[in-house]
Amino acid sequence: MAVQIPRGTQDILPGEVEKWQLIEETAKKMCQLYQYHEIRTPIFEHTELFQRGVGDTTDIVQKEMYSFQDRGGRELTLRPEGTAAVVRSFAENKMFGNATQPVKLYYLGPMFRYERPQAGRYRQFVQFGVEALGSMDPAIDAEVISLAMGIYRQLGLKKLRLVINSLGDKESRVAHRNALINHFQPRIQEFCKDCQSRLEKNPLRILDCKKDHDHELMGSAPSILDYLNEESAQYFNKVKEYLKAMKIDFQVDSTLVRGLDYYNHTAFEIMSEAEGFGAITTLCGGGRYNGLVKEMGGPDTPGIGFAFSIERLISAMETEEVQFERENGIDAYIISLGEEAKDYSVTLLEDMRRAGFSVERDYMDKKLKAQFKAAERLGATHSIIIGEDELKNGIVTVKNMTTGEQQECSLQNFVEEYSKLS
Ligand code: AMP
Repeated sequence: MAVQIPRGTQDILPGEVEKWQLIEETAKKMCQLYQYHEIRTPIFEHTELFQRGVGDTTDIVQKEMYSFQDRGGRELTLRPEGTAAVVRSFAENKMFGNATQPVKLYYLGPMFRYERPQAGRYRQFVQFGVEALGSMDPAIDAEVISLAMGIYRQLGLKKLRLVINSLGDKESRVAHRNALINHFQPRIQEFCKDCQSRLEKNPLRILDCKKDHDHELMGSAPSILDYLNEESAQYFNKVKEYLKAMKIDFQVDSTLVRGLDYYNHTAFEIMSEAEGFGAITTLCGGGRYNGLVKEMGGPDTPGIGFAFSIERLISAMETEEVQFERENGIDAYIISLGEEAKDYSVTLLEDMRRAGFSVERDYMDKKLKAQFKAAERLGATHSIIIGEDELKNGIVTVKNMTTGEQQECSLQNFVEEYSKLS
Protein backbone atom coordinates (compact mmCIF):
# COMPACT_ATOMS: atom_id res chain seq x y z
CA MET A 1 0.00 0.00 0.00
CA ALA A 2 1.15 3.55 -0.73
CA VAL A 3 2.39 5.57 2.22
CA GLN A 4 -0.09 8.26 3.21
CA ILE A 5 0.19 11.65 4.87
CA PRO A 6 0.25 11.53 8.71
CA ARG A 7 -3.02 12.20 10.55
CA GLY A 8 -3.64 15.85 11.35
CA THR A 9 -1.30 17.20 8.67
CA GLN A 10 -2.01 18.51 5.19
CA ASP A 11 -0.39 19.11 1.84
CA ILE A 12 -0.87 22.61 0.53
CA LEU A 13 -0.94 22.31 -3.21
CA PRO A 14 -0.49 24.92 -5.93
CA GLY A 15 -3.86 26.63 -6.33
CA GLU A 16 -4.31 26.62 -2.55
CA VAL A 17 -0.84 27.82 -1.60
CA GLU A 18 -1.52 31.25 -3.16
CA LYS A 19 -3.94 31.90 -0.27
CA TRP A 20 -1.13 31.20 2.17
CA GLN A 21 1.21 33.48 0.28
CA LEU A 22 -1.33 36.29 0.30
CA ILE A 23 -1.82 35.96 4.07
CA GLU A 24 1.89 35.71 4.76
CA GLU A 25 2.67 38.75 2.61
CA THR A 26 -0.13 40.77 4.20
CA ALA A 27 0.98 39.88 7.72
CA LYS A 28 4.59 40.79 6.90
CA LYS A 29 3.57 44.09 5.31
CA MET A 30 1.51 44.98 8.37
CA CYS A 31 4.48 44.14 10.60
CA GLN A 32 6.57 46.55 8.58
CA LEU A 33 3.96 49.29 9.18
CA TYR A 34 3.94 48.53 12.91
CA GLN A 35 7.72 48.01 13.05
CA TYR A 36 7.81 44.37 14.16
CA HIS A 37 10.83 42.43 12.87
CA GLU A 38 11.09 38.80 11.92
CA ILE A 39 12.79 36.24 14.15
CA ARG A 40 13.38 32.59 13.21
CA THR A 41 14.00 30.06 15.95
CA PRO A 42 14.55 26.29 15.64
CA ILE A 43 11.68 23.88 14.96
CA PHE A 44 12.82 21.79 17.95
CA GLU A 45 13.98 22.93 21.37
CA HIS A 46 14.91 21.34 24.69
CA THR A 47 11.75 19.84 26.18
CA GLU A 48 12.45 21.75 29.37
CA LEU A 49 11.88 25.03 27.54
CA PHE A 50 8.20 24.25 27.08
CA GLN A 51 7.80 22.68 30.51
CA ARG A 52 8.99 25.96 31.98
CA GLY A 53 7.77 28.39 29.35
CA VAL A 54 4.31 27.01 28.62
CA GLY A 55 3.74 25.49 32.04
CA ASP A 56 3.72 21.99 33.48
CA THR A 57 0.00 22.09 34.24
CA THR A 58 -1.12 22.89 30.70
CA ASP A 59 -2.68 20.39 28.29
CA ILE A 60 -0.02 21.27 25.77
CA VAL A 61 2.81 20.09 28.01
CA GLN A 62 0.95 17.22 29.64
CA LYS A 63 -0.68 15.66 26.61
CA GLU A 64 0.19 17.24 23.31
CA MET A 65 3.92 17.49 22.80
CA TYR A 66 5.89 15.65 20.14
CA SER A 67 8.87 14.82 22.33
CA PHE A 68 11.78 12.54 21.50
CA GLN A 69 15.29 11.68 22.49
CA ASP A 70 17.97 12.36 19.90
CA ARG A 71 20.90 10.04 19.30
CA GLY A 72 22.90 11.91 21.92
CA GLY A 73 20.22 11.28 24.56
CA ARG A 74 18.94 14.86 24.62
CA GLU A 75 15.26 15.39 25.44
CA LEU A 76 13.86 17.46 22.59
CA THR A 77 10.39 18.59 21.53
CA LEU A 78 8.93 19.88 18.27
CA ARG A 79 7.74 23.36 19.19
CA PRO A 80 4.03 23.44 20.10
CA GLU A 81 3.91 27.26 20.13
CA GLY A 82 6.15 30.23 19.45
CA THR A 83 6.38 32.41 22.55
CA ALA A 84 8.64 30.25 24.72
CA ALA A 85 11.34 30.06 22.03
CA VAL A 86 11.18 33.77 21.22
CA VAL A 87 11.55 34.59 24.89
CA ARG A 88 14.43 32.11 25.20
CA SER A 89 16.14 33.77 22.25
CA PHE A 90 15.47 37.24 23.68
CA ALA A 91 17.22 36.25 26.91
CA GLU A 92 19.98 34.19 25.28
CA ASN A 93 20.87 36.90 22.76
CA LYS A 94 20.62 39.61 25.42
CA MET A 95 18.13 41.58 23.38
CA PHE A 96 17.17 43.36 26.59
CA GLY A 97 20.34 45.35 25.94
CA ASN A 98 19.26 46.46 22.44
CA ALA A 99 19.32 50.19 21.86
CA THR A 100 15.73 50.12 20.59
CA GLN A 101 13.17 49.11 23.20
CA PRO A 102 10.70 47.52 23.33
CA VAL A 103 11.97 44.69 21.14
CA LYS A 104 9.18 43.99 18.67
CA LEU A 105 9.35 40.62 16.93
CA TYR A 106 7.22 38.43 14.71
CA TYR A 107 7.48 34.79 13.66
CA LEU A 108 5.84 32.54 11.13
CA GLY A 109 6.20 28.80 10.99
CA PRO A 110 4.89 25.32 11.74
CA MET A 111 3.89 24.25 15.25
CA PHE A 112 3.15 20.70 16.40
CA ARG A 113 0.57 19.44 18.87
CA TYR A 114 -0.70 15.92 19.38
CA GLU A 115 -4.36 16.93 19.43
CA ARG A 116 -7.44 15.13 18.15
CA PRO A 117 -7.66 16.36 14.57
CA GLN A 118 -10.90 18.02 13.47
CA ALA A 119 -11.97 21.04 11.42
CA GLY A 120 -9.65 23.89 12.43
CA ARG A 121 -7.44 21.64 14.53
CA TYR A 122 -4.35 20.03 13.09
CA ARG A 123 -1.30 18.28 14.46
CA GLN A 124 0.95 20.43 12.32
CA PHE A 125 -0.32 23.97 11.81
CA VAL A 126 1.31 27.27 10.90
CA GLN A 127 1.25 30.09 13.39
CA PHE A 128 1.93 33.72 12.80
CA GLY A 129 2.66 35.56 16.02
CA VAL A 130 4.19 38.70 17.45
CA GLU A 131 5.89 39.52 20.74
CA ALA A 132 6.67 42.97 22.14
CA LEU A 133 9.22 42.69 24.93
CA GLY A 134 10.40 45.34 27.35
CA SER A 135 7.49 47.72 27.73
CA MET A 136 4.81 48.02 30.39
CA ASP A 137 2.91 50.74 28.60
CA PRO A 138 -0.78 49.88 28.07
CA ALA A 139 -0.46 51.48 24.64
CA ILE A 140 1.68 48.53 23.52
CA ASP A 141 -1.12 46.15 24.58
CA ALA A 142 -3.50 48.17 22.42
CA GLU A 143 -0.96 48.21 19.57
CA VAL A 144 -0.58 44.43 19.59
CA ILE A 145 -4.37 43.99 19.49
CA SER A 146 -4.63 46.58 16.74
CA LEU A 147 -2.02 44.71 14.67
CA ALA A 148 -3.94 41.42 14.87
CA MET A 149 -7.23 43.13 14.00
CA GLY A 150 -5.48 45.12 11.27
CA ILE A 151 -4.17 42.01 9.52
CA TYR A 152 -7.64 40.46 9.57
CA ARG A 153 -9.26 43.67 8.34
CA GLN A 154 -6.67 44.04 5.58
CA LEU A 155 -7.52 40.52 4.42
CA GLY A 156 -11.20 41.42 4.20
CA LEU A 157 -12.62 39.77 7.34
CA LYS A 158 -15.57 41.65 8.79
CA LYS A 159 -17.36 39.29 11.13
CA LEU A 160 -14.99 39.41 14.06
CA ARG A 161 -15.44 39.66 17.78
CA LEU A 162 -12.66 40.88 20.01
CA VAL A 163 -12.91 39.79 23.62
CA ILE A 164 -10.57 41.13 26.27
CA ASN A 165 -9.99 40.52 29.96
CA SER A 166 -7.46 41.34 32.62
CA LEU A 167 -5.82 38.69 34.74
CA GLY A 168 -4.27 41.38 36.92
CA ASP A 169 -0.85 41.46 38.54
CA LYS A 170 0.55 38.93 41.01
CA GLU A 171 -1.20 40.39 44.04
CA SER A 172 -4.58 40.45 42.27
CA ARG A 173 -4.07 36.92 41.03
CA VAL A 174 -3.22 35.58 44.49
CA ALA A 175 -6.40 37.15 45.89
CA HIS A 176 -8.44 35.71 43.03
CA ARG A 177 -6.74 32.34 43.35
CA ASN A 178 -7.71 32.06 47.00
CA ALA A 179 -11.28 32.99 46.16
CA LEU A 180 -11.34 30.31 43.45
CA ILE A 181 -10.00 27.65 45.79
CA ASN A 182 -12.67 28.56 48.38
CA HIS A 183 -15.31 28.44 45.66
CA PHE A 184 -14.43 25.06 44.13
CA GLN A 185 -12.97 23.14 47.09
CA PRO A 186 -16.24 22.03 48.76
CA ARG A 187 -17.42 20.32 45.54
CA ILE A 188 -14.16 19.52 43.78
CA GLN A 189 -15.05 15.79 43.76
CA GLU A 190 -17.68 16.58 41.12
CA PHE A 191 -14.97 17.77 38.73
CA CYS A 192 -12.66 15.81 36.44
CA LYS A 193 -9.30 14.41 37.60
CA ASP A 194 -7.42 17.21 35.82
CA CYS A 195 -9.45 19.89 37.61
CA GLN A 196 -8.89 18.18 40.95
CA SER A 197 -5.17 18.45 40.49
CA ARG A 198 -5.51 22.00 39.13
CA LEU A 199 -7.25 23.16 42.33
CA GLU A 200 -3.99 23.57 44.22
CA LYS A 201 -1.58 24.00 41.30
CA ASN A 202 -3.43 26.49 39.15
CA PRO A 203 -7.15 26.90 39.94
CA LEU A 204 -7.56 29.56 37.23
CA ARG A 205 -7.21 26.80 34.69
CA ILE A 206 -10.35 25.08 36.00
CA LEU A 207 -12.26 27.90 34.27
CA ASP A 208 -10.63 26.81 31.02
CA CYS A 209 -11.59 23.11 31.36
CA LYS A 210 -13.22 21.64 28.28
CA LYS A 211 -14.86 18.78 30.20
CA ASP A 212 -16.40 20.65 33.13
CA HIS A 213 -17.33 23.91 31.49
CA ASP A 214 -21.08 23.33 32.04
CA HIS A 215 -20.81 22.69 35.79
CA GLU A 216 -23.00 25.11 37.76
CA LEU A 217 -20.04 26.31 39.85
CA MET A 218 -18.39 27.64 36.70
CA GLY A 219 -20.98 30.36 36.11
CA SER A 220 -20.88 31.57 39.70
CA ALA A 221 -17.07 31.44 40.04
CA PRO A 222 -15.50 34.62 41.43
CA SER A 223 -14.54 37.04 38.65
CA ILE A 224 -10.95 38.20 38.42
CA LEU A 225 -12.22 41.69 37.65
CA ASP A 226 -13.55 41.91 41.23
CA TYR A 227 -10.08 41.12 42.59
CA LEU A 228 -7.95 43.54 40.56
CA ASN A 229 -5.97 45.85 42.80
CA GLU A 230 -5.94 49.52 41.97
CA GLU A 231 -2.85 49.42 39.78
CA SER A 232 -4.15 46.49 37.71
CA ALA A 233 -7.59 48.05 37.35
CA GLN A 234 -5.99 51.29 36.16
CA TYR A 235 -3.85 49.44 33.67
CA PHE A 236 -6.87 47.63 32.26
CA ASN A 237 -8.85 50.89 32.05
CA LYS A 238 -6.04 52.46 30.07
CA VAL A 239 -5.95 49.55 27.57
CA LYS A 240 -9.71 49.89 27.08
CA GLU A 241 -9.41 53.66 26.67
CA TYR A 242 -6.75 53.24 23.98
CA LEU A 243 -8.80 50.66 22.10
CA LYS A 244 -11.74 53.06 22.08
CA ALA A 245 -9.47 55.83 20.82
CA MET A 246 -8.37 53.50 18.02
CA LYS A 247 -12.03 52.75 17.21
CA ILE A 248 -11.54 49.06 17.84
CA ASP A 249 -14.72 47.45 19.19
CA PHE A 250 -14.34 44.95 22.01
CA GLN A 251 -16.23 43.11 24.71
CA VAL A 252 -14.98 42.37 28.21
CA ASP A 253 -15.35 38.76 29.28
CA SER A 254 -14.12 38.03 32.78
CA THR A 255 -14.13 34.27 32.11
CA LEU A 256 -11.51 34.58 29.39
CA VAL A 257 -8.37 32.91 30.70
CA ARG A 258 -5.57 31.87 28.45
CA GLY A 259 -4.57 28.21 28.52
CA LEU A 260 -0.93 28.98 29.17
CA ASP A 261 0.68 29.88 32.49
CA TYR A 262 2.59 33.14 33.07
CA TYR A 263 -0.14 35.30 31.60
CA ASN A 264 -1.06 38.42 33.54
CA HIS A 265 -2.89 41.69 32.91
CA THR A 266 -4.28 41.84 29.37
CA ALA A 267 -5.65 38.67 27.76
CA PHE A 268 -7.57 38.68 24.49
CA GLU A 269 -9.09 36.50 21.83
CA ILE A 270 -10.46 37.21 18.40
CA MET A 271 -13.38 35.06 17.29
CA SER A 272 -15.04 34.60 13.94
CA GLU A 273 -18.75 35.32 13.98
CA ALA A 274 -19.27 34.23 10.40
CA GLU A 275 -22.36 32.09 10.05
CA GLY A 276 -21.48 28.49 9.32
CA PHE A 277 -17.95 28.74 10.70
CA GLY A 278 -17.05 25.52 12.53
CA ALA A 279 -17.38 24.76 16.21
CA ILE A 280 -13.96 26.17 17.02
CA THR A 281 -14.37 29.92 16.53
CA THR A 282 -11.21 31.29 18.11
CA LEU A 283 -8.96 32.70 15.42
CA CYS A 284 -6.34 34.38 17.56
CA GLY A 285 -5.23 34.37 21.17
CA GLY A 286 -2.86 36.66 22.98
CA GLY A 287 -1.91 38.35 26.17
CA ARG A 288 0.66 39.73 28.52
CA TYR A 289 3.25 37.50 30.20
CA ASN A 290 5.38 39.61 32.50
CA GLY A 291 6.93 36.69 34.41
CA LEU A 292 8.16 34.67 31.46
CA VAL A 293 11.49 36.27 30.56
CA LYS A 294 12.68 35.94 34.14
CA GLU A 295 11.50 32.33 34.20
CA MET A 296 13.68 31.74 31.11
CA GLY A 297 16.74 33.09 32.90
CA GLY A 298 16.64 36.67 31.65
CA PRO A 299 16.16 39.88 33.61
CA ASP A 300 12.63 40.73 34.74
CA THR A 301 11.14 42.00 31.49
CA PRO A 302 7.49 42.52 30.59
CA GLY A 303 6.08 41.08 27.37
CA ILE A 304 2.93 40.78 25.35
CA GLY A 305 2.05 38.96 22.15
CA PHE A 306 -0.47 36.99 20.15
CA ALA A 307 -0.57 34.03 17.78
CA PHE A 308 -2.99 32.86 15.15
CA SER A 309 -2.94 30.00 12.73
CA ILE A 310 -3.12 30.47 8.99
CA GLU A 311 -5.39 27.39 8.75
CA ARG A 312 -8.17 28.94 10.83
CA LEU A 313 -7.75 32.31 9.15
CA ILE A 314 -8.21 30.72 5.73
CA SER A 315 -11.37 28.93 6.82
CA ALA A 316 -12.74 32.19 8.27
CA MET A 317 -11.98 33.92 4.96
CA GLU A 318 -13.65 31.11 3.04
CA THR A 319 -16.72 31.19 5.30
CA GLU A 320 -17.04 34.95 4.79
CA GLU A 321 -16.51 34.36 1.08
CA VAL A 322 -13.67 36.85 0.94
CA GLN A 323 -12.11 37.04 -2.50
CA PHE A 324 -8.55 35.87 -2.47
CA GLU A 325 -6.73 38.20 -4.83
CA ARG A 326 -5.30 35.89 -7.43
CA GLU A 327 -1.73 36.24 -8.50
CA ASN A 328 -1.74 37.79 -11.94
CA GLY A 329 -0.80 35.54 -14.81
CA ILE A 330 2.58 35.39 -16.43
CA ASP A 331 4.12 37.96 -18.77
CA ALA A 332 4.56 35.77 -21.79
CA TYR A 333 4.24 32.30 -23.23
CA ILE A 334 6.58 31.26 -26.01
CA ILE A 335 4.92 29.39 -28.82
CA SER A 336 7.38 27.72 -31.13
CA LEU A 337 6.89 25.80 -34.36
CA GLY A 338 9.49 23.37 -35.62
CA GLU A 339 12.67 21.98 -34.16
CA GLU A 340 14.87 25.00 -34.81
CA ALA A 341 12.36 27.40 -33.28
CA LYS A 342 12.03 25.11 -30.30
CA ASP A 343 15.78 25.12 -29.78
CA TYR A 344 15.84 28.87 -30.08
CA SER A 345 13.12 29.29 -27.49
CA VAL A 346 15.55 27.98 -24.86
CA THR A 347 17.79 31.01 -25.38
CA LEU A 348 14.89 33.42 -25.53
CA LEU A 349 13.33 32.01 -22.37
CA GLU A 350 16.60 32.39 -20.48
CA ASP A 351 17.20 35.96 -21.74
CA MET A 352 13.71 37.04 -20.79
CA ARG A 353 13.83 35.49 -17.35
CA ARG A 354 17.19 37.12 -16.69
CA ALA A 355 15.56 40.43 -17.58
CA GLY A 356 12.93 39.76 -14.90
CA PHE A 357 9.95 38.57 -16.95
CA SER A 358 7.91 35.53 -15.98
CA VAL A 359 7.82 33.35 -19.04
CA GLU A 360 6.78 29.80 -19.86
CA ARG A 361 7.01 27.52 -22.89
CA ASP A 362 5.71 24.14 -23.99
CA TYR A 363 7.64 21.04 -22.95
CA MET A 364 5.08 18.49 -24.09
CA ASP A 365 5.56 18.77 -27.85
CA LYS A 366 2.11 20.27 -28.26
CA LYS A 367 0.57 21.48 -31.52
CA LEU A 368 0.11 25.19 -32.24
CA LYS A 369 -3.50 25.34 -31.07
CA ALA A 370 -2.75 23.56 -27.80
CA GLN A 371 0.14 25.95 -27.16
CA PHE A 372 -2.20 28.94 -27.56
CA LYS A 373 -4.63 27.28 -25.19
CA ALA A 374 -1.87 26.88 -22.61
CA ALA A 375 -0.96 30.57 -22.96
CA GLU A 376 -4.58 31.47 -22.25
CA ARG A 377 -4.88 29.09 -19.33
CA LEU A 378 -1.81 30.57 -17.66
CA GLY A 379 -3.18 34.10 -18.11
CA ALA A 380 -0.21 35.21 -20.23
CA THR A 381 -0.24 38.89 -21.18
CA HIS A 382 1.53 38.12 -24.46
CA SER A 383 2.32 35.10 -26.52
CA ILE A 384 5.57 35.14 -28.45
CA ILE A 385 5.40 33.19 -31.65
CA ILE A 386 8.54 31.81 -33.26
CA GLY A 387 8.17 29.92 -36.55
CA GLU A 388 10.79 28.65 -39.02
CA ASP A 389 10.34 31.54 -41.46
CA GLU A 390 10.40 34.14 -38.71
CA LEU A 391 13.59 32.68 -37.36
CA LYS A 392 15.23 32.93 -40.78
CA ASN A 393 14.24 36.59 -41.03
CA GLY A 394 15.35 37.36 -37.48
CA ILE A 395 11.91 38.32 -36.22
CA VAL A 396 9.26 37.05 -33.81
CA THR A 397 5.60 37.91 -33.50
CA VAL A 398 4.26 39.17 -30.19
CA LYS A 399 0.53 38.84 -29.68
CA ASN A 400 -1.33 40.77 -27.01
CA MET A 401 -3.62 38.13 -25.57
CA THR A 402 -6.27 40.61 -24.44
CA THR A 403 -6.60 42.78 -27.55
CA GLY A 404 -5.45 40.21 -30.10
CA GLU A 405 -3.09 42.82 -31.58
CA GLN A 406 0.06 41.42 -33.17
CA GLN A 407 3.40 43.05 -33.61
CA GLU A 408 6.77 42.01 -35.01
CA CYS A 409 9.93 42.47 -32.99
CA SER A 410 13.50 41.86 -34.02
CA LEU A 411 15.16 38.84 -32.50
CA GLN A 412 18.40 40.61 -31.96
CA ASN A 413 17.11 43.24 -29.51
CA PHE A 414 14.12 41.25 -28.48
CA VAL A 415 14.22 41.75 -24.70
CA GLU A 416 14.68 45.49 -25.14
CA GLU A 417 11.83 45.76 -27.60
CA TYR A 418 9.60 43.57 -25.49
CA SER A 419 10.30 45.73 -22.41
CA LYS A 420 8.80 48.68 -24.26
CA LEU A 421 5.64 46.71 -24.98
CA SER A 422 4.85 45.65 -21.46
P1 AMP B 1 -2.72 28.95 21.48
O1 AMP B 1 -1.24 28.93 21.23
O2 AMP B 1 -3.28 27.64 21.91
O3 AMP B 1 -3.16 30.12 22.29
O4 AMP B 1 -3.40 29.17 20.05
C1 AMP B 1 -3.31 30.38 19.35
C2 AMP B 1 -3.96 30.21 18.00
O5 AMP B 1 -3.29 29.20 17.26
C3 AMP B 1 -5.40 29.75 18.03
O6 AMP B 1 -6.28 30.83 18.18
C4 AMP B 1 -5.54 29.12 16.66
O7 AMP B 1 -5.68 30.12 15.65
C5 AMP B 1 -4.20 28.49 16.47
N1 AMP B 1 -4.18 27.05 16.82
C6 AMP B 1 -3.91 26.49 18.02
N2 AMP B 1 -3.92 25.15 17.94
C7 AMP B 1 -4.21 24.83 16.66
C8 AMP B 1 -4.36 23.61 15.94
N3 AMP B 1 -4.19 22.44 16.53
N4 AMP B 1 -4.66 23.68 14.61
C9 AMP B 1 -4.82 24.87 14.00
N5 AMP B 1 -4.69 26.04 14.62
C10 AMP B 1 -4.39 26.05 15.93
